[in-house]
Amino acid sequence: MILAYQYKLRVNPSQKIIMINWLSMLRSHYNFCLRDRIEAYEQVKSPKLGNYSDLKTKAPCCPLTCSMSNKSQLGEPFKKSGKKRNAYEMQSSELPVLKKARPWYQGIYSSVLQQNLRRLALAFKNFFDGRGYPKFKTRQKFKSFSYPPNQVKLENNKIYLPSIGWMRFFKSRNIPDGFNLKTVTIRQKSEGWYVSIRIENKDVPQSNPKDLVQVKTAIGCDLGIKKLLALSNGELIENPQFEKQLSKRKTIRQRRASRKKKGSSNQRKAYALITHLDQKITNQREDYQWKIAHHLVRLADVIILEDLNIQGMIKKCRAKQDEHGKFLKNGQSAKRALNRLIRDCSWGNLKLKIESVAAKFGSICLDVSPKFTSQQCSHCGHIQKENRNKERFLCLNCGFLADADIQASINIGMKGLKTLGISQSKLLRVPQKVTPKPESTGSRNGEISVSLEIEPGNPQQLSLFEWVNGEAIPC
Ligand SMILES: [Zn+2]
Repeated sequence: MILAYQYKLRVNPSQKIIMINWLSMLRSHYNFCLRDRIEAYEQVKSPKLGNYSDLKTKAPCCPLTCSMSNKSQLGEPFKKSGKKRNAYEMQSSELPVLKKARPWYQGIYSSVLQQNLRRLALAFKNFFDGRGYPKFKTRQKFKSFSYPPNQVKLENNKIYLPSIGWMRFFKSRNIPDGFNLKTVTIRQKSEGWYVSIRIENKDVPQSNPKDLVQVKTAIGCDLGIKKLLALSNGELIENPQFEKQLSKRKTIRQRRASRKKKGSSNQRKAYALITHLDQKITNQREDYQWKIAHHLVRLADVIILEDLNIQGMIKKCRAKQDEHGKFLKNGQSAKRALNRLIRDCSWGNLKLKIESVAAKFGSICLDVSPKFTSQQCSHCGHIQKENRNKERFLCLNCGFLADADIQASINIGMKGLKTLGISQSKLLRVPQKVTPKPESTGSRNGEISVSLEIEPGNPQQLSLFEWVNGEAIPC
C-alpha cells in the first residue's frame, strides 16, 4: 500500500537560503530543458522539415546556417551499449556539462537535478496522453523539488535531506510500522516549508474494489452550488463558500498592498498577508472536502457521482457586436460572479478526494452523465423540462413531489446502478412521496387531496405549494 503524508518543516535560516537558491536554479534548469525539448519536438512533429531547419520559418536550411538538427537534442543520443537514449536520458547525460559550465549547479544534490528532469518528462508524458502542453514555469508556479527513494533518512522527528542537512519537523501524525520511504518532496508554501513523504509497505495489499456481488448499499450524489452535495438518502451537505466568506477581507488587504510604495519591504509584507489568506481558504476547503469524502465512503459501498464539464461551465460568453462593430452587453459580468462561485465549490478536487478515499477503503466510485437527471421523474420516469421549478420538483405526469436536487441524485444513483448491473433496491433513498395525487379516474382533470382543481401537466400548479424544510405544504 502506498500512502502520502505531509509535515511542516522547522527550517533554520541557512537551510532556508539554500532551498530558496535551489528553487531558483532548478526553475531555470527546468525552463532551459523545456526549451530544448520544444525545439526538438517542433522539428519532429512536422514531416516537411528537412534534417536541418529554421524553427521560426520552418524552412529547410543547411547545417552551416542552422545548428538545429532534426530529431536531436542536447546531450548524447546513444548509450555506451549502443542503444538510443530517450529524451530524459539525453538531457540527463548533459548534466556533467552543465555543472562544468555553471559551477554553482554543483551545490545541488545530483539526484534532485535528475528528479527535475523526470518532472519535465512526466509533463511531456501527460501531454502525449492528451493533457495540456508543458508550460514554462514562473516563480509562482515552481515551488518544489524532490528526492528519489532511498536518499532521505528519517529519525523520530528529524529528517536528513542530502546536501541540506538534518532538520526537525512537526510530527503531526505517526508513520505506521513497516512502511518504507519513497519519493520525498519539499514544498514552499506561504507560511513555511513542508515535506510530503510517500511511504510504501509491500506486505499490505492495496485494497481491491469490492465485488459487485458484495455490494450492499449505493448512494447517488448531485453536485450543486447552494448545496454542495445532495444525496439520494435525503441528506443535504451545505456549501460554506469559504472564498466568499473571506472575500471582503481579501479585498481590503489587496487595496492596502496596492497603496504601499512599490518594491518596499512594507509592500512585500502586505502581499504576504494576502497569500496567507489564500492559503487559509485552501486549507479550510481541503479539510472540509476530506471530511465529506470519508462521510460518503462510510455511508455506502458504491458512490455514484455526475460527470461534469466544469471547464465548459466557466467558459466566457461570446462577444456580441452591433453592425458598427461596437461591443454590446453579453451577460459576462453576471456570469463572472457565477464562475467565481463555481470555482469556490472546487468540484473537481472534491471528486478526486472521494475517489482516493474510496480506493483506500475498497469502495466503488463511478461517474455517470448528468443528462436529464434534473428533469426526469424518479418515480415514473417521465422527462419534461417543466417538471422542475428551481428547488422544487413536481412530476407533471404522476404528481411525484420532491426536492429537485435530491430527486436528481436519486436519478444519478439509479443510472449508475443500471450501468454496473446491480439491483436498484440497493440505492439508499428517501421514502417516496406522491403528495398531490390526481385521482386516477381516467379523466384528464384530476383532483388533488387539498381539493384544488388543477390540471396535471399545468406547470403553474407548483406555485400552489409552499416549500418549508424540504416538505411541500399547500398554501
Ligand atoms: Zn412521475
